[in-house]
Amino acid sequence: MISIIIPSYNEEGNVSHTAEVVRKIMEKNNIPYELVFVNDGSSDGTWERLEAMARADERIVAVNFSRNFGKESAIFAGLETARGDACVLMDCDLQHPPETIVEMYKIWKNNDVDIVEGRKADRGKENKAYRGFSLLFYKLIKKASGLDMDAASDFKLLDRRAVDALLRMPERLTFFRAMSSWVGFKTEKVFFEVQEREVGESKWTTRSLIKFAINNITSFTSAPMQIVTVCGILTFIVSLIMGISTIVQKILGESDAGFPTVIVLQLLTSSIIMFSLGIIGFYISKIYEEIKNRPRYIIRDIVRKNDEGESK
Ligand code: UDP
Ligand code: MG
Repeated sequence: MISIIIPSYNEEGNVSHTAEVVRKIMEKNNIPYELVFVNDGSSDGTWERLEAMARADERIVAVNFSRNFGKESAIFAGLETARGDACVLMDCDLQHPPETIVEMYKIWKNNDVDIVEGRKADRGKENKAYRGFSLLFYKLIKKASGLDMDAASDFKLLDRRAVDALLRMPERLTFFRAMSSWVGFKTEKVFFEVQEREVGESKWTTRSLIKFAINNITSFTSAPMQIVTVCGILTFIVSLIMGISTIVQKILGESDAGFPTVIVLQLLTSSIIMFSLGIIGFYISKIYEEIKNRPRYIIRDIVRKNDEGESK
């Protein structure tokens, strides 16, 4: 059986349609499945719909968060709840075409692979600013951590082995896309065309995207801290040269002109120090986050038909 995990945040217009579409495709291809919907603290009627769907159909499991924890947490909650021999992650808005699941399933079933990774054949409709921003983000990630993720997506099939490996990773600040490639295993790719969103709009705001990018870059690399070290070395060299030239000028009796140098040096070093402190502070705040060891999410209820023990 495969578990299809669908994080849902304010998707009341999508959930039942998505479930219906996936159900049809799975049945047509004779794939045993369960649907694991994770309601990520939606403020609309998403949970009421999911709850009703889960009560009516034993192949649907509905997990409800106590508040919005973000898609990453929803993914991990889904992985933890899923009982399938493999898990597939897909978006609730059908931007990840469910037909591709069949393709992934066949590859997983007929070959000895553990992860089937969906890669974007094209990126669908995106505005220029978003496109530019994500290109820069993936360039940085690639430079810093060697993971090529431009065409990567969260649309993936993971064998139980890979799921268990992921669930054993203890960090609180997760980045599913990178973690699932970090765990290794035999990986196969399938390409899919990003579809138009069915109903509603994208949940990303510029602010949340920037936060996402910074978080993930710092989760997967300490390169920014190394940049600080390099800056430190560079300024040290510059100040050494300037220092020597000042002394030489002093000896030659031309030291009057030294005033600008002092100011330039002051500005330069203090700005670099502030910048470095900012970066170090950022890492410390992440260490703080991790060390608190809080759960990644809090579940309010789980609804599974014929499984009364777990429902509220
Ligand atoms: N999502 C979520 N929690 C959030 C934001 C989004 O579970 O805080 C879900 C959302 O319901 C959808 C998926 O993550 O199933 C992708 O979100 P969206 O379509 O807004 O992102 P985009 O496709 O624009 O990258
Ligand atoms: Mg979407």
